[in-house]
Amino acid sequence: MSSEEFRTNGRAVIDWIADYYERLETLPVRSQAAPGDVRAALPAHPPQTGEVFSAILRDVDYALLPGVTHWQHPSFFAYFPANASFPAILGDLLSSGLGAQGMLWATSPAATELETLTLDWLAELLDLPHRFMSTGQGGGVIQDTASSGVLVALVAALHRASGGTVGSTGLGSPRHIVYAGTAAHSMVEKAVRIAGLGTANLRLIDVDPTTQSMRVEHLRESVNADIGSGAVPTMVVATAGSTSTTAFDPVGEVGELCRESGIWLHVDSAYAGVAAVCPDLRWVNDGLEHADSYATNPHKWLLTNFDCDAFYVADRAGLVGALSVLPEFLRNTATESGAVIDYRDWQVPLGRRFRALKLWCVLRWYGAEGLRAHIRQGIELAQHFAALVATDGRFEVVAPHPLSLVCFRLRGDDEPNVELLEKLNASGKVYLTHTRVNGEYTLRMAVGSPATQTRHIEEAWRLIRELA
Ligand code: PLP
Repeated sequence: MSSEEFRTNGRAVIDWIADYYERLETLPVRSQAAPGDVRAALPAHPPQTGEVFSAILRDVDYALLPGVTHWQHPSFFAYFPANASFPAILGDLLSSGLGAQGMLWATSPAATELETLTLDWLAELLDLPHRFMSTGQGGGVIQDTASSGVLVALVAALHRASGGTVGSTGLGSPRHIVYAGTAAHSMVEKAVRIAGLGTANLRLIDVDPTTQSMRVEHLRESVNADIGSGAVPTMVVATAGSTSTTAFDPVGEVGELCRESGIWLHVDSAYAGVAAVCPDLRWVNDGLEHADSYATNPHKWLLTNFDCDAFYVADRAGLVGALSVLPEFLRNTATESGAVIDYRDWQVPLGRRFRALKLWCVLRWYGAEGLRAHIRQGIELAQHFAALVATDGRFEVVAPHPLSLVCFRLRGDDEPNVELLEKLNASGKVYLTHTRVNGEYTLRMAVGSPATQTRHIEEAWRLIRELA
């Protein structure tokens, strides 16, 4: 493709994306495709000769779009939002255009230095403890997901707990134990498995049935029992804004226990953490001064296209010590000078995209005030929805809803709730997902798309009542 052809096709793609956003509301929120539909709509074999780009775009419309669930739709209320925004899309496009691979400072200094700066900016916007900034002992890095972040934190925690030997001698004995509340995300168990600890060395601590937050006294008992049996309590994952209900573990108390016992504390605030851009919501990150690592996802609720997990450590030297392996072919004078960051040492893969560009574009385009307005809008709409649910005695709101997620259900058995969710999602007009709260099947209304307005909330509620 010549640059002239790129200009023409590029404009067509930008137009396609802008048109897509304009007609989004006319599309069914959740794809109604059956398994195999998308593949069946496409040629079974690759073309022998190249095609024009307009043919590709036509297939995006006719073959792919029916198989796309529209995460940016204003009536997408499933899981948590995965906010996209035009500034982030443009930042991502610039990153693709540059095609730079920022594994080392030397392979593209701007990729590294912009990432360091942007994550310091984000830390300032969220009022994170200074120890997480690059101007302190720690620093931030963009991981693809919170799942990668917790895995990296676990490897660093094992490194520290083993006195730096686990990387060379392997796990062996004593056993290393990880703790999290039962409301923690499943990524914790996955990290424990990938790290080779095994699920048997993960302790899931029960939660208070009303607040869904981890019971610290049970955590303490569990830690003491493990110490008594000769195991090494290695990491606690505290959740600040759980996936099921946005429950908050008592991070401060958990942190004090971790500090007393020398346990690594990772705080997972994948969804809720970005709410701290609003000064009155800084409580979401209470207790963070005790954490060794922390992660929040601008790709969920801060207008930055997937993937963008902001991961912070308090002691960058410890993290690098755990992950750095320097083969001859990566040696260079900048690395050897010790004056630069090489982000390859802060993550699982070697290679890395220039992801800071999209977050930087978002922070610059919206500014703190624009970001705050976005967060506040999601919360106001969710609170409006909760108030509507409270007007109908057939329904109950089943957990605290301090932010933009409301968990609710039809009173009584699970089955009518299961049926209600199926009917809602089959309508194509809304998309919600479910969880279980204290064992009961519960619907989740997760608000947060920048396109969602009061009318979408009220229309969703009208539909819910009609189909219930
Ligand atoms: N932690 C929490 C609280 C989440 O809600 C989620 C996803 O919804 C995750 C972790 C996993 O996020 P990721 O897809 O970035 O790994």
